[in-house]
Amino acid sequence: MRGRFLLTQHFNRRSERAKRTALRTNATEAEQRLWQHPRSKQLGVKFRRQYSVDAYVVDFYAPRSKLAVEVGGDSHFRPSATVYDQERTRHLNRFGIEVVRFTNAESAENIEAVLAAIVEALKCWPTTSPWPPPLTRQIALRDLEQLSVANIVAWWMCGGRRIDHSTIGKFVQLHEDVLGQQFVTALAAWVVQRLKLRPGLSSIDGTVVESAASRWKLLQAEAAELAAAEASKAAGAEPDNPAVQQSAQAAQEVARVALQRCAKRAQQGKKTDTVVVACSDPDAVVQPRKDKVMRPAYKASTLMHEAGVIIGQYVVPSSETAAVTPLLEQHQAVFAQLPPTLLTDAGYHHEELLGELAEQGIDVLCPSGKAMGDDDWEKKGSKGLFAKNQFRYDDQRDAYVCPANELLSYADQGQDGRGHRYRRYRTAACAHCPVRAQCTTGKQGRSIKRYAGDEYKEAMVLVLLQPRAREVYGQRMPIAETVHAELRERFGLRRFHRRGLSAVRAEFGLYCIAFNLKKALRDTAVFLVFVVSGRQGGRGWAAAATYVVSMHIVSLSQTP
Ligand code: SF4
Repeated sequence: MRGRFLLTQHFNRRSERAKRTALRTNATEAEQRLWQHPRSKQLGVKFRRQYSVDAYVVDFYAPRSKLAVEVGGDSHFRPSATVYDQERTRHLNRFGIEVVRFTNAESAENIEAVLAAIVEALKCWPTTSPWPPPLTRQIALRDLEQLSVANIVAWWMCGGRRIDHSTIGKFVQLHEDVLGQQFVTALAAWVVQRLKLRPGLSSIDGTVVESAASRWKLLQAEAAELAAAEASKAAGAEPDNPAVQQSAQAAQEVARVALQRCAKRAQQGKKTDTVVVACSDPDAVVQPRKDKVMRPAYKASTLMHEAGVIIGQYVVPSSETAAVTPLLEQHQAVFAQLPPTLLTDAGYHHEELLGELAEQGIDVLCPSGKAMGDDDWEKKGSKGLFAKNQFRYDDQRDAYVCPANELLSYADQGQDGRGHRYRRYRTAACAHCPVRAQCTTGKQGRSIKRYAGDEYKEAMVLVLLQPRAREVYGQRMPIAETVHAELRERFGLRRFHRRGLSAVRAEFGLYCIAFNLKKALRDTAVFLVFVVSGRQGGRGWAAAATYVVSMHIVSLSQTP
């Protein structure tokens, strides 16, 4: 009943009845002539005459197809009427209604062409914009705004309030802690309990998701400093202008991040002139997407259980390995223990990380190569040269044995750009080695650096030679990679909509909640999310925004 009441607030409302009747009674000749064809479902759908949407009355309207047909004098096509018609069309479009317009002359002289155009519009419109919009995959805030206007369930949930996109965005920001980590972990624990899952095979994987930052507004450190200085000057000249003050702060933040990244790269002995920062989202890092195109982006990681449930999720600017500790903490919070077996790809093949995981008692399987075929489990050397893993370390002699069976002995030690210490091994045999061209291009011959923790990498090679280990590792792809493929292809997570690391984390959390709901709770998702979110709602717009955000989660979870 409530929905019916709300419908009459916009469609064919009583206040417009007199206007509708007058227009029907005084229909023009062109309208009367055209009406002979769509009436009585002659075009396959029911049309109504003089139908009103808010204050606008359309000549003919097909409710099923949400198609409005207007027929009028040439005055409609004059500039003075254009603005009014545009506003009218925009208003109708807001309700998902498509408008086709014909002149009196067209209706009189070429009725076949007019009818053909209407039939064509009837064919395409229901598929291009269903009405009400489906409660599936509402991604952008403006989609949600439209949902709160258009969907009858949303009307009921929002108590008839209309929620604009900025209110929804502010609400998510305001409650990002609740909607973020705690909420995702609580939901994951609930799902685990409901599905009676036990800790088993788990996999960590990350993917690059483009940020909402503009790729046209990237600044190098020098330019960022200049922009910050100019913005500060402008802010000094207008101390009472909040907009100028805000842009000065934003410019300073961009300059600070640019300088920080330059300093870090310089410390690692890398070039600094390639560092660029996105002005509209300095937290994002310019990095290659999956298709190798460079964009300001974030790395979104998940810890998946073998049952296909996301146990942990985390977003970092660029380093996948930085997400491992928070992901393991979330596993601990959900299962009260760490994952017994963890499968990761070569991106996590770092001596330090392998050592930490081993010390925590986790059986980790992590090849250094792509592990796509029998011979692809170990990392290949760059430029086709022998890789480090082709050199065998002999701990008795503290030396490496090279592919030419020569002994590389300890030469010196040092520290790399990351601050990690190493011991370097060399041999004089390189000078007359027959396979030198396959081994090195250096004038001094080949050298091998040994880091603390390299023994974990060597142990991993031996473990992954076992057929059973390879068989278990074969389950990584379906466990880990399908989640990101599904989030990207079905949930539409190709780009974040919010800016800043904390907002992006909250946004990714919503996707993960939706993914888990879809996996485990398809039928009860709506109930659960409304119950949980209702606790956060409070009153008024906050409650309405809560419900819209909840619908966002549910709509994502209902993707096919
Ligand atoms: S170049 Fe030196 S390290 Fe390489 S295979 Fe020959 S002897 Fe061994």
